Amino acid sequence: MSSPLTAYIALTSLSGAINLLLFLYVFPKRKSYGSISTFFLLGVAAKIIYCFGYAFNLAASATLAEMRFWNIVQYFGILFAPPFGLLFVLQYLGFRVTRREIAGLLAISVAILLSNMTNDWHHLHYRTYRVHETLGAPFFHIEIGPTYIIMIWYLYLCMLGSIVLVLSRWRHAVPRVRRHLLALAFANLIPMTTNILYLSGVTPEGIDPVPMVVGLSSVLIMWAIESSRMLTVFPVAMDAVFYSIGDGVVVLDRSGRLVEFNESCRRMFGGLDRSMIGQPMERVWSAMFGPRPPAPDLGAGAQQLEVPTGEGGGRTYLVRISPLKKHRKTASSGTVMIISDITETKRMQRQLERHAYYDDLTGIYNRRAFLEYCEAEFEKAREASGPFTVILFDIDYFKRINDTHGHQTGDRVLVHVAGITRRCLGEDMLLARYGGEEFVLALPGKGVSDGKAFAETLRRQIESQPLVVNGQEVAITSSFGIAGASWQPGESLQHVLHCADKALYEAKRGGRNQVSVHDNPRE
Ligand code: GH3
Ligand code: MG
Ligand code: MG
Repeated sequence: MSSPLTAYIALTSLSGAINLLLFLYVFPKRKSYGSISTFFLLGVAAKIIYCFGYAFNLAASATLAEMRFWNIVQYFGILFAPPFGLLFVLQYLGFRVTRREIAGLLAISVAILLSNMTNDWHHLHYRTYRVHETLGAPFFHIEIGPTYIIMIWYLYLCMLGSIVLVLSRWRHAVPRVRRHLLALAFANLIPMTTNILYLSGVTPEGIDPVPMVVGLSSVLIMWAIESSRMLTVFPVAMDAVFYSIGDGVVVLDRSGRLVEFNESCRRMFGGLDRSMIGQPMERVWSAMFGPRPPAPDLGAGAQQLEVPTGEGGGRTYLVRISPLKKHRKTASSGTVMIISDITETKRMQRQLERHAYYDDLTGIYNRRAFLEYCEAEFEKAREASGPFTVILFDIDYFKRINDTHGHQTGDRVLVHVAGITRRCLGEDMLLARYGGEEFVLALPGKGVSDGKAFAETLRRQIESQPLVVNGQEVAITSSFGIAGASWQPGESLQHVLHCADKALYEAKRGGRNQVSVHDNPRE
């Protein structure tokens, strides 16, 4: 066997082996590659047949009959590799191909295959196919017939089609994707140009060099698949997010004109419709939010908008604006606005805040809020060594009110007393429901005597305003305990409250409906 022949066989076998390895690598994992792997695997399988068919042709045929046999085996590969390649590219780029279209394409391959298999009867494929006169078997001499020319056109069109399709995506592709597109283009260009060289007689006579290069083209395709697997999924995922996300998304171009908006946005803002595409940002904004608030500056940022909806209602939106940049350093190619309707969240937040800080029944601060705010006031007064007084007061015989008039009336009494107290409240005073039927007041900046005067006033107010329920008066009195901060070292608010509680106890003990001042804050 001549040494060039050995080299051709080695190269062809190597090319076949590469394809075989790729097949064995992808086949077990085909599910993880998704549907795209099917046409890739079929294409690779076709190339394996093509390469090994030709390698056997070169290595094992000594007669014309053997050469013809391997030539036909080879055709099972060569006729299917480019159409499967084209189908792969179509799927890679996201085109839908119907079964009918696939069948139509492959029918051409089958027809050409049959024309070669039956060539001896009609010589439409090879006008002549004989052993090369000077080189001998397995080198051949052929004169091509019409179905061979059809085959060349067909296979070229498949490969050219793949190249054109791949390059049609060039303009919109980011550099990373461009590398993959280029690899896919070369995967088709390499066998095609090799074939052109072969047909124009540039490559060694009697030898088909194409099988030797199809290994390389499969490697290129494999690389594109491996490294762009995420990228083929990503645009689809992006689209899915854009159209299904619950937030409104608006895309503006560099000059601030509307490019696209999603379904959620259309649902959120009745004023927005597709005829507005191309309109400037200000128009789009007022279609969404009305003339107020004015359109923001499109620099990145977030803003919360309260938009009145009439009838005293309103909705709250969170608008996040970000520039569309591929890289941090590149100029922005537009803006994306993500609009979330946070009305409900805000309402719940406010409700939670209310629950955390206010007493549900009376609407005044609860004990927790009181202690938090009062502590701050207490510390301020301590720093200034200023006066600070607390008043604890408790409704007298409240249990009896409940027992006599019912729990509901008891509740109304609590609301009533809270209302009276609120109306008496001076500036800076803090009022809270301390527990049950007990209330607390803090009077920053006021001394015990001011506190006592205030408590007296309040006591009289409560006493003189019985609650009227169903025409019946419910008499209410309350007892007051007062204590002032003495600013002894280490004195705490808790201590002052404790003193006020003692004073309150004294007021109760003294007969109720009275004010008692704690006289020794250090106790
Ligand atoms: P005193 O004059 O010593 O303060 O007697 P009192 O009956 O007011 O005090 P006591 O502590 O014996 O009873 C307080 C009652 O207040 C007991 C409890 O059932 C009632 N109470 C506590 N919270 C509420 C409330 O939110 N609504 C109503 N209706 N009653 C409450
Ligand atoms: Mg009581
Ligand atoms: Mg009580």
